[in-house]
Parts: sequence; structure tokens; C-alpha cells
Amino acid sequence: MSPAVDPDDAVFVAGHRGLVGSAIVRRLEQGGHRNLVTATRDQVDLRNQAAVAGFMDEHRPRFVYLVAGTVGGIMANSTRPAEFLYDNLMIHANVIEAAHHVGVGKLLYLGSSCIYPRLADQPIVEPALLTGPLEPTNEAYAIAKIAGIKMCDAYRVQYGCDFVSAMPTNLYGPNDNFDLQSSHVLPALIRKFDDARRAGEDRVTVWGTGRPRREFLHVDDLADACVFLMEHYDDPGPINVGYGEDVAIAELAGLVRDVVHPGASIDFDTSKPDGTPRKLLDSTRLQQLGWRPSIPLAEGIASTYDWYLEHVAPQEAR
Ligand code: GDP
Repeated sequence: MSPAVDPDDAVFVAGHRGLVGSAIVRRLEQGGHRNLVTATRDQVDLRNQAAVAGFMDEHRPRFVYLVAGTVGGIMANSTRPAEFLYDNLMIHANVIEAAHHVGVGKLLYLGSSCIYPRLADQPIVEPALLTGPLEPTNEAYAIAKIAGIKMCDAYRVQYGCDFVSAMPTNLYGPNDNFDLQSSHVLPALIRKFDDARRAGEDRVTVWGTGRPRREFLHVDDLADACVFLMEHYDDPGPINVGYGEDVAIAELAGLVRDVVHPGASIDFDTSKPDGTPRKLLDSTRLQQLGWRPSIPLAEGIASTYDWYLEHVAPQEAR
């Protein structure tokens, strides 16, 4: 059984400034947690084994959310594979080993739906892991993420550690990366339509054919699921965390357009990669445990755009 979480237990959120980590911090604070442990990259470089070991020894957290990593969209993934492999392998290995060393009560490791084979049957079930070739545009990231799952399982087998692995679908929300070269599609589209609206342009270019299908989960739903899994889930292997529906990229572009710049036209740049044709998770196991998402896509896009306007757009010279 999972250890009960007390509001005064030390909880380390590794990666607390990122999209996921900041949402987990919000969720834990809303739930009354009083003892959150965090470290900025300047304070502790999670790729540095000695720094991580020293930090964990000093703080001795009872619970760890391992949600730190080098992440990015299709272009960043395919052009910076060395960074995606090195950074993520080092971060996972250092935090998992240190968590074992200091006797962390439970660790939740966050993977990604790109761990599954490119042509996995849809919706994708957890046993599809390692049953076929990966999508080449995110292979480096996927290999690092699979290594993290296997580490959690190995530490469970060899040392009896209560380390679990959650696999989220494509995420979006506050604190996302809106840089057009390195972001994922949803924040990229918010930025492109907003840039066009400000510039008085009525055409926006979307990468690829618009036909790939993706599932999008608001990061506040993901954070809620992570806290739920920390308290209610104890099995080896990955457990999927999805929204339950997917959309074509062309449909997604239409939804963002309707919120940000109604009436704009959409062009498709087919010289850019489509990536995997479809990625929809089967989240039946999580639903059977009793968790469901609550933020519909259109509502999530609108609130993320509000966040973008308040936090990103005005601070940049245009
Ligand atoms: P993926 O799920 O790992 O493929 O990551 P992305 O979120 O980067 O891309 C999802 C899909 O959206 C791919 O088919 C991209 O080609 C497509 N896409 C369309 N326009 C954009 C864009 O401006 N940025 C990104 N990152 N993807 C885009």
C-alpha cells in the first residue's frame, strides 16, 4: 500500500519551474501541503550526481515527484538528440539512485506517451511498451524515458523501492514553452495566431499535413492525476494518463484560431515533419482506479491563452 501523505511530509518536486512541476506545486499547495522542497537549476544541476546526492541527503524527502527533464516539440527533439538523451538519462539516474540511497518513501516518475511504438494499436495500452520501433523524431527522448521506467522497476525489484511510473499524453497549460523552435504544437499555435493577430495578418502556417492526431491533457489535470497516483497506486511498469479523446492537428488549429484570432486562414507547410500518425492513450487502468480529467480542450485553450497574454506576450518586444 502507498504510504499516507501528511501535509508536513517533505515532498521534493524535481523540476518545479517547468510546465508539469509548477502545476504539481500548485496542486499540492491547494491541498494544504506545507513542506515542499524545491531547487532551481542554479542551486542543483540535476545532471550532476554529487550535487543531487548532497541535496537529497540534506533534505531527505519522504516523497519525490520526478518531473524534471529536457523537453521539447518535434523540431527540438529531432535536432538536439544528444541533449535529450544525456540530460534526461543523467537526471533520472541521479534522482532515482539518490532517492533509494536516502530511503525516499515513494517516488513518482513521469514519462511520456512517445515511449510507445510509432505504429502501436490505438488507443495505446501499457503492454505495448517495447513491442515495436519508436517514432524517429523523438527516439532519443523516448529511449531516455524508457530507461527511467526500467530504473524504477529495477529499484523496485532489487531494493524494494516504491517507485512508480506515469505516462502522460501531450500536455499544455500555464508555464509552457512558447518558443516557436522548441515548443510543442499547442503553445506554438497560440503564439502563431496571436502574433498574426497583432501584426494584422490573416494567414497562419501550421507544420505538416494537419492530419496527425494527438490527445491533449491540461497540466492541472495531469498534476491532479499525479497526486492521485502518489496516494493510490503501487504497481510496476507504466500507467497511462490521458484525456481520452484525440483531435487532428488541423482541428486543433481551428480551435486555437477560434479563441485567438477568429477568421484567420490556415496554411499547411508540408516540408515540416508530421511525426507519429496518431497518439491516443488508453487510460482505462487509471479510470478504474477512480480518476478522470475535468478540463475540456476548448476551455483549456482559452485559459492557457489568458495566461499567455498575462505572462508571456506583454513581456516581449514585438
Ligand atoms: P509530437 O507529439 O512529439 O509530434 O510533438 P509536437 O507537439 O511538436 O507536434 C505535434 C504535431 O503538430 C506534429 O505533427 C507537428 O508537425 C504538428 N505541428 C503543426 N504546427 C506545429 C508547430 O508550429 N510547432 C510544433 N511543435 N508542431 C506543430
